[in-house]
Amino acid sequence: MSAEQTAGYFGSFGGSFIPPELQEVMDYLAQQFETYKNDPEFVEEFQYYLKEYVGRENPLTYAKHLTDKLDGAKIYLKREDLNHTGSHKINNVLGQILLAKRMGAKRIIAETGAGQHGVATATVCAMFDMDCTIYMGAEDTRRQALNVFRMELLGAKVVPVEKGQGRLKDAVDEALGDLVQNYRNTFYLLGSAVGPHPFPTMVKHFQSIISEESKRQILEKEGRLPTAVLACTGGGSNAIGSFAHYLDEPSVRLIGVEPDQAPTLTEGVPSVIHGFKCLVLLDENGEPRKTYSIAAGLDYPGIGPEHSFLKESGRAEYYTVTNEEVLDAFQVLSKTEGIIPALESAHAVAYALKLAPTLSKDDILIVNLSGRGDKDVEQVFHMLQNK
Ligand SMILES: *Cc1c(COP(=O)(O)O)cnc(C)c1O
Repeated sequence: MSAEQTAGYFGSFGGSFIPPELQEVMDYLAQQFETYKNDPEFVEEFQYYLKEYVGRENPLTYAKHLTDKLDGAKIYLKREDLNHTGSHKINNVLGQILLAKRMGAKRIIAETGAGQHGVATATVCAMFDMDCTIYMGAEDTRRQALNVFRMELLGAKVVPVEKGQGRLKDAVDEALGDLVQNYRNTFYLLGSAVGPHPFPTMVKHFQSIISEESKRQILEKEGRLPTAVLACTGGGSNAIGSFAHYLDEPSVRLIGVEPDQAPTLTEGVPSVIHGFKCLVLLDENGEPRKTYSIAAGLDYPGIGPEHSFLKESGRAEYYTVTNEEVLDAFQVLSKTEGIIPALESAHAVAYALKLAPTLSKDDILIVNLSGRGDKDVEQVFHMLQNK
């Protein structure tokens, strides 16, 4: 393991803690990303597909009924749920596959836990005619059989990983092994603002479209900046994308919301996980703690390095909500606004339900709806029946 690498640090977090053969691949990726990110043709192509394929820009919807009900701050919803494939994940996979194409890759690999990132990756691979291999823990392939079928329908090859516990971590190890073997023609498409440099920086860049739009939209609608921006945090990509264009606006509170059963930013300590340094939930033996979340996308014992830094510096605030509060928020938003949120996004909504009534009618909250809840309806049905 080598720790030399100065780029990609956020305070003391981030960096790159990987074997030398992988470091070379990451250095090349970082250099290619720097080359293309502001290249006019690259930017134009990214914008073209964001509009014509993803369906951007998506609305910043005023949640009038919810606002009236809570009788406090005005609530706006940033509608990532309306994107093609139903979440913010498509912004990032689209950006990365365009970069992969520029770099001459013929083959995309990715890891997936519950399957959401795998489906997003398989989608753009179908769209751009790229060979696609998704590594998934064997245990996860059994629990998420429909997502496996979805990926296969989109033309991807899903490789069940039997090693270890057959979970996400084992799938990541297999994917990294594949990359070291095949880096000449293969691009590793990472799903969140985590991992070694340049991934956290690159994923933030592609997800920043969320706050680029929301800032323009709120200024058009209200003529001023919001009081706070709220987003759920798993690895932290929808949150960092929602925060990006407000980081230099000190009047805007930035609020990340996590499950109380995976309270990485609330209880984590600095440590290295998956090749980068961040706040990590550790058990009494110093191993990454087993987390559990009713929202599969938030079930991760680490968190993006920039969030770790924003927490430490105090620029952003992070809070936890309970499953009970999340289930309630899921139903409240559905009933008041006719919008069924993803269980992940319902975490941000849950905190908004608590915060809004404590603020004045002059305050404005932007809640990032990272995804739609169709995928979660069956799970919520069973949870409510078993209450
Ligand atoms: C994957 C996912 C998340 C969590 O990932 P982040 O990188 O933290 O954004 C949140 N919401 C939805 C809808 C997701 O699919």
